[in-house]
Amino acid sequence: MTDWLWDHGGEGFAQAYRVDEVLLDLQSPYQRIRVIRTPLFGRMLILDDAVQTSEADEFCYHEMLAHPPLFTHPHPRRVLIIGGGDGGLLEEVLKHSVERVVMVEIDRMVVDATLRHIPEIPGGAFDDPRAELRIEDGFAYVRNTPERFDVALVDSTDPQGPSVPLFGEAFYRDLHRVLGEDGILAVQSGSPLYQAELITQVRRNLRQHFPVVRTLLTYVPSYPGVLWTFTLASKRLDPAELSADEVDRRVAGFGLRYYTGAQHRAALNPPPFLKQVLES
Ligand code: SAM
Repeated sequence: MTDWLWDHGGEGFAQAYRVDEVLLDLQSPYQRIRVIRTPLFGRMLILDDAVQTSEADEFCYHEMLAHPPLFTHPHPRRVLIIGGGDGGLLEEVLKHSVERVVMVEIDRMVVDATLRHIPEIPGGAFDDPRAELRIEDGFAYVRNTPERFDVALVDSTDPQGPSVPLFGEAFYRDLHRVLGEDGILAVQSGSPLYQAELITQVRRNLRQHFPVVRTLLTYVPSYPGVLWTFTLASKRLDPAELSADEVDRRVAGFGLRYYTGAQHRAALNPPPFLKQVLES
């Protein structure tokens, strides 16, 4: 019998993938972790029942979470990643001439699963001497660290279990403290089709601490509904003021497959249906 993985979006909606092979299926203290092989997306990382990333389209997600804030900041040197256990985001960050990246992931078994079964996603990122991987709760880390960062990226699972506090006002207050004067932050903020309330909540919580809040719209084919949002927040810098020419000048040589100056501008110019959500 053919097996399918059903990734549920909103009520009565799911995207399905034919499972040609199960490479890993185990339970960590935090979540069920699976790596499956599918015909179109290749190997996919599944946490509980939700697709996290895939060999075929990981660049769509990771480039659009990493580069809009990293190019908005004039000289990002110190970067913090919360979550992001598959290492795909870390790989994108390390394409910049950063000095130090601290990645705080709560579940070592997610890192190990990716390194063992989809090592192409992190590439050599975890071996880069600029990167420090810490296995601990990102909320507690941000609350207690004396370190300061230029850019913080929150690559969390949807709000459930240990990731719930990562969408709250207290976490954003602590992130404001660890970010410098030109500090900028980007968080994954969910689907505009069936998580509009999450987007509104994230924006409301961010606004309590950051004067600039911008939500961008992009495409992640392996997420239910394909359309996805990231929300950026900063103390001063506005990603919407960055020109396409400036992005194209600075991005030359990065070898990216998704992010360009035109994509930056388009993603930050939401269509009317999303504007309505953002203004609500
Ligand atoms: N791109 C994915 C998505 O949007 O579906 C997220 C990928 S990444 C694998 C999410 C990671 O966040 C998971 O590995 C999970 O263990 C981690 N995570 C969840 N809560 C966390 C917390 N409180 N601190 C640090 N990492 C956390």
